[in-house]
Amino acid sequence: MTIEQIYHIYLQHSSIQTDTRKLQPNDIFFALKGDNFNGNEFAAKALEMGAAFAVVDEAAYFTQPDKMVLVDNVLETLQALALWHRKQLNIPFLAITGTNGKTTTKELVNAALSAGFKTFATIGNLNNHIGVPLTILGIKPDVEIAVIEMGASHQKEIAGYCTIALPTHGIITNIGKAHLEGFGSEEGVRIAKGELYDYLRANNGTVFVCNDFPYLVEMSKGIANIVTYGSKDADYTGTPVAGKALLGVEVPGKIEFIQTKLTGAYNFPNVMAAVAVASHFKVPVEKIGPAIAAYTPSNNRSQVMQQGSNTIIMDAYNANPSSMKAAIDNFVGLDSSRKVLMLGAMMELGTDSVKEHETLVKQLQQYHWEAVVLVGGDFKKVNHPYIYFDTAAEAQQWLQQQQFQDMHILIKGSRSTGMEKVLG
Ligand code: ATP
Ligand code: MG
Repeated sequence: MTIEQIYHIYLQHSSIQTDTRKLQPNDIFFALKGDNFNGNEFAAKALEMGAAFAVVDEAAYFTQPDKMVLVDNVLETLQALALWHRKQLNIPFLAITGTNGKTTTKELVNAALSAGFKTFATIGNLNNHIGVPLTILGIKPDVEIAVIEMGASHQKEIAGYCTIALPTHGIITNIGKAHLEGFGSEEGVRIAKGELYDYLRANNGTVFVCNDFPYLVEMSKGIANIVTYGSKDADYTGTPVAGKALLGVEVPGKIEFIQTKLTGAYNFPNVMAAVAVASHFKVPVEKIGPAIAAYTPSNNRSQVMQQGSNTIIMDAYNANPSSMKAAIDNFVGLDSSRKVLMLGAMMELGTDSVKEHETLVKQLQQYHWEAVVLVGGDFKKVNHPYIYFDTAAEAQQWLQQQQFQDMHILIKGSRSTGMEKVLG
């Protein structure tokens, strides 16, 4: 069957599922393979559960020809189908990549654009070789602007997503240290994320560039349309209001002041990206600030919580050297003298890992803390004067025993350290 014929089936059903546990009647089931599973084995079950069609790539599982399509490679078919769908949609596609803040920026941009347009954005963090095509295939014909998050842990990944999504607009949030195992070095990260700029340079695209990062300004040279944002001399200029747990942003001109529900000056560029994109697409200016202000982070991404007299900054969604440094710099800058740090280890740093944890401990030693608790991973291999636990559960017990009052507590660590459990 050709992609066009499969596309015809998709148009009749339009909802795609790759996981039988989430299957709804009438979905089309794509039998993807993972490291530990073979979706082909679930194709018959998917049909039993009411799937309209199943796409498989192993002849042994092609048991019901009237309701199954046998292709060479299910993943490649999914990607080709996404490209086919993309080509039918004559709308702006904004791709967002970068080391940190992709999802936050995507959510803020989507919130601001939604005040003027029917938008569709990546749901949650579906930003990989499966998530990107599934996101594109989720776009209905009435959508006016699409916002697509693209993650990458190795070279050529973003370039590949661009050939499926054909973005017209792009943002690289920033470039820092993460996934060093896959990229080799920070320079490797730069080349990989730069593939988005390369695509837009070659295709007469538009980029939104944070002026505060000279490397992004340098990398974006030669792109036809460049819209800048940041803290000075940009097309959209603002000022972060520091000192408080929740970030405020001044945008002189019509938006004036935005009181966000985000913590951390490091979210300032994320907010300004939303201001720049929404303004560029001509969302009514009086709607932009309130839309951004209303956005509440979830999933332990920079959430501020009050527990009795203590203020908790819960940032346990993930951590790498650059986001860790940003979170600590921000925490140091808060107006409070009583601060506790509870940090889980940073994962996936390859051969640099112990060194990066040492650098972090040195950074911590420059400041006074009421207490510092380090948890797991390579913190165990580093000399430090702080409290150490192997697990977040032990850190939770420790926290329960303290009688903290009027304390600011920052909780952060890589996903797998489960630092959110510290609050019980
Ligand atoms: P992932 O790679 O998992 O998709 P992401 O790039 O989508 O991550 P977010 O989920 O938006 O990133 O944010 C994750 C964490 O990164 C936040 O909780 C915060 O600690 C940090 N972060 C967000 N924005 C920035 C930024 N501009 N600079 C540095 N760190 C940031
Ligand atoms: Mg993300």
